[in-house]
Amino acid sequence: CFCQVTGNLDDCACDVETIDHFNNDQLFPKLQNLLESDYFRFYKVNLNKPCPFWTSSSHCGLRHCAVKPCSPNEVPEGIRSPSHNKYSADANKQLEECEKEQHLGAVDVSLSDETREALLDWSKYDDEAERFCVVDDEASPDSQYVDLLLNPERFTGYKGPEAWQIWNSIYEENCFKPYTVKRPLLPDSFRSSSGGEARKFYSWLDGQCVEKRAFYRLVSGLHASINIHLSARYLLDDNWFQREWGHNVTEFRQRFDSELTAGEGPKRLRNLYFLYLIELRALAKVLPFFQQPSFHLYTGRPEEDKKHKEQLLQILQLARSFPLHFDERSLFAGDEKEAAKLKEDIRLAFLNISKIMDCVDCFKCRLWGKLQTQGLGTVLKILFSERQIEALPMSSNQRPSFQLSRQEIVSLFNAFGRISTSVRELKNFRSMLAEER
Ligand code: FAD
Repeated sequence: CFCQVTGNLDDCACDVETIDHFNNDQLFPKLQNLLESDYFRFYKVNLNKPCPFWTSSSHCGLRHCAVKPCSPNEVPEGIRSPSHNKYSADANKQLEECEKEQHLGAVDVSLSDETREALLDWSKYDDEAERFCVVDDEASPDSQYVDLLLNPERFTGYKGPEAWQIWNSIYEENCFKPYTVKRPLLPDSFRSSSGGEARKFYSWLDGQCVEKRAFYRLVSGLHASINIHLSARYLLDDNWFQREWGHNVTEFRQRFDSELTAGEGPKRLRNLYFLYLIELRALAKVLPFFQQPSFHLYTGRPEEDKKHKEQLLQILQLARSFPLHFDERSLFAGDEKEAAKLKEDIRLAFLNISKIMDCVDCFKCRLWGKLQTQGLGTVLKILFSERQIEALPMSSNQRPSFQLSRQEIVSLFNAFGRISTSVRELKNFRSMLAEER
């Protein structure tokens, strides 16, 4: 059974129970374990970029929106080494050694001429044209390491017109603007009770090509996931004596209950599963990249690095074994020229979404928004690089046609970790709702 994006909006008739069982009992615990390792917990990000689209009112000042960056000595030296961020395979280590010996970027004279040339050539390698996402300049003094475990995604109190402006821009400006419907994503409370706006929007969406529908569903799935997290780690009590975080069933119900959302909630949850399948598919496909003997999860502690690489490969093997994979072959399958144009449209639209993240006023939301859009951008890059991944050179002397930076790797796994946690949280909410009845 493949989950195919053809036909109507709800065409992804995959078996939710199979996904739940696979995720909750097999994948989720392994992934959580890996994400606690040093390689994955430190993410370098620039949270100070100005919003390129409008003058941002100011920073929200909400207490729970604050992000605590790491002091330099908290981050393992191996992660901080400059060449580490660019190359993940053997080139990484070789360049690093070269740089250490020659101080600042020269290539080791003891290497053969071809290797030296190849390394110099790789150092110029830039996959900008294949990226679906803006990558922060890690060398910028504004970029800082953040410990993701100490800054968890949870309720922050960020809401109202500022938050809606972001979501509206994402949907209206980037989801291939529906010209017949002016404001398809007005907050639910603003909608007419007949749900007419929603109906118009979905009939517009159904008339769109498969790729644009798929794109909308990815964004909607991400939106659903963020809202599940804030409902699952809600600030239940905040006073002098205690601060309590936990599940807020009422909040969850208001966002996802079929009756309270005029049928939209369950569709949004289906979009979450759709996103899950797409991300899982990318993990399954990228296995050969991580299997390269020259690839290291380099933190400077060889024993640990080796153990974590093994754990990572087990997770990717597990992703490969999942029986209900998403079939991305139905995407961009038409006329070659048209497909290339559509792919480029989608790439540019997604690139724009990643820029909108710099307009999010709440720093904590910006951090996780940036990480998750970068992760999804990496997923798209993987899905559309199948040939390059298969053609990865076995020898480190050849220029690889597919690369992932550390930032892309960390965002890929952490973004999937968020979606996987959302699927797990749905199980918790289901049991709590059942208890209430
Ligand atoms: P919103 O979630 O703001 O949604 C606006 C409108 O979009 C809704 O009324 C509905 O019409 C439509 N909509 C809602 N969900 C979907 C969906 N899944 N698919 C399609 N349409 C939908 N808050 C936190 O507390 N913690 C966070 O970590 C956090 N991270 C955020 C990250 C980003 C990038 C953004 C933009 C916001 C974040 N927020 C976070 C805010 C949060 O997402 C909501 O915006 C906020 O809680 C207000 O919710 P709301 O009920 O007004 O509807």
